[in-house]
Amino acid sequence: MENQNSSKQPHVLIIPHPLQGHVNPMLHLAEIFCLANFNVTFLSSTHIYNHLTLYTDFVTRFSHYTGLFEFKAIPDGLPDDHIRAGDDGAQQVCLQFKSNLNPILKEMLDDEVVNPVTCLVVDGWLPVAHDLATQTHIPVIMFRCFSASNVWVYFSIPNLVQTGELPFKDDQDMDGLVQNAPGLDSFLRYRDLPRFCREKKDMSSCQALEKLFEPEIERNTKAHALIVNTCQELEGPLLDLIRSRCPNTYSIGPLNAHLRTRLNTGQATLSDKSSKGQWEGDRSCMSWLDEKPDKSVLYVSFGSVAMLEREQLIELWAGLVQSQNYFLWAVRPNLIIGTESGCQTLEELSVGTRDRGYIVGWVPQEEVLGHRAVGGFLTHSGWNSTLESVTAGVPMLCWPYFGDQQVNSRLVSEVWKVGLDMKDTCDRNVVAKMVGDLMVSRKDELLKSVARLSDVAMRSVNEGGTSYSNLDHLIQDIKQCAQSPKRRY
Ligand code: UDP
Repeated sequence: MENQNSSKQPHVLIIPHPLQGHVNPMLHLAEIFCLANFNVTFLSSTHIYNHLTLYTDFVTRFSHYTGLFEFKAIPDGLPDDHIRAGDDGAQQVCLQFKSNLNPILKEMLDDEVVNPVTCLVVDGWLPVAHDLATQTHIPVIMFRCFSASNVWVYFSIPNLVQTGELPFKDDQDMDGLVQNAPGLDSFLRYRDLPRFCREKKDMSSCQALEKLFEPEIERNTKAHALIVNTCQELEGPLLDLIRSRCPNTYSIGPLNAHLRTRLNTGQATLSDKSSKGQWEGDRSCMSWLDEKPDKSVLYVSFGSVAMLEREQLIELWAGLVQSQNYFLWAVRPNLIIGTESGCQTLEELSVGTRDRGYIVGWVPQEEVLGHRAVGGFLTHSGWNSTLESVTAGVPMLCWPYFGDQQVNSRLVSEVWKVGLDMKDTCDRNVVAKMVGDLMVSRKDELLKSVARLSDVAMRSVNEGGTSYSNLDHLIQDIKQCAQSPKRRY
């Protein structure tokens, strides 16, 4: 049956993978689409929905878009007290959510009368949604929450296997540059490839990797379009390579800053309940920061998924104390493996150092990064944290954990030169030395280069900037999709 309503307003269905680092940027995009007067359905897990409504200003924020915005929540299939962090935890969320997604998605995509979906914006981690939408001839736009560099690493994996660079040799020089990945071969070392590359130790597991990535690449190239949360000024050469395979690629980031421009506030819309909360933001850290000198505090956070061993916690802590810098550390409730003993250790460690090192559970991160007292960020190099640090003009000390983070930390240290990379080490003396470099001996140089980078990134999301105009084109593209009866795709 031909869709009667298809020439009306676009109705965009947005589906992130239900983890904080994926939900945040896609929620920013949802709000931008509401500002463009699109109908938006945001489909995610009940767990995410509950946390957003409990700990953030989500309800107030989206009450401005009543009639346009709807959040559909489905169970992620895991018990409430499931940890949903670490390698395994994140994978379980992924698997369970995918299996629950199918029926509701099918129902929504089949609806041609009541509220037909005119376009699907789906996380690249949810291929099942892409495939279903393609079957129902609804245009699919793939959203990548990663850096363009990491997207291109994924595109290059099959070639690395075919040319024998993967699996690594027993005596692999991890500091050698990757050879068969055009665009990456000038800066990416073997140790900078995603951690799973190290874990695939034989040819058959690497071939399995190749089989996993080939259909993923095909989905990206066959999709109606690809959105990458980055900008031409940050990753131009890599975006050009991606466009050689996916011509309709929209780089519209950094979305955290872009949303602010579109809202025309010019500053973070962060209140005492940050819109990013997986937990309640502890605002006591803001008054602690108020008492510290300009650019004197190192902010420490490893995002929402990474987990630390007790030994790593102790080495990091000892290094931070040894560096004699002020530091503010966000230790979320599920950060430490074997949480109870980890927390006890931390309590013991922090006695007597409260003036120098302040520990909280969860902070309004963008507000912290924007505080005048913060002069550095010890980060796991998650892509959102990286972009938030760049836009706030804060140099980084990178300690990547998994996934795209190994690539991002190389981008920060070697390509942009706005920070230092501590990957593959967790030793108190190294931590102390590198914190000293970041906060003291190389402070001025790094602050200058990150200020330059912040400036170009911010310009890209202001009117006339590359990301700004790409987003305008994307909005036109989606409007056009809504004008054509969907069955023609
Ligand atoms: N975040 C926050 N408060 C914290 C720690 C993290 O608001 O105490 C937010 C941070 O601003 C970012 C997100 O959580 O937007 C983490 O995303 P990222 O991609 O950096 O890492 P992931 O959690 O996906 O590993």
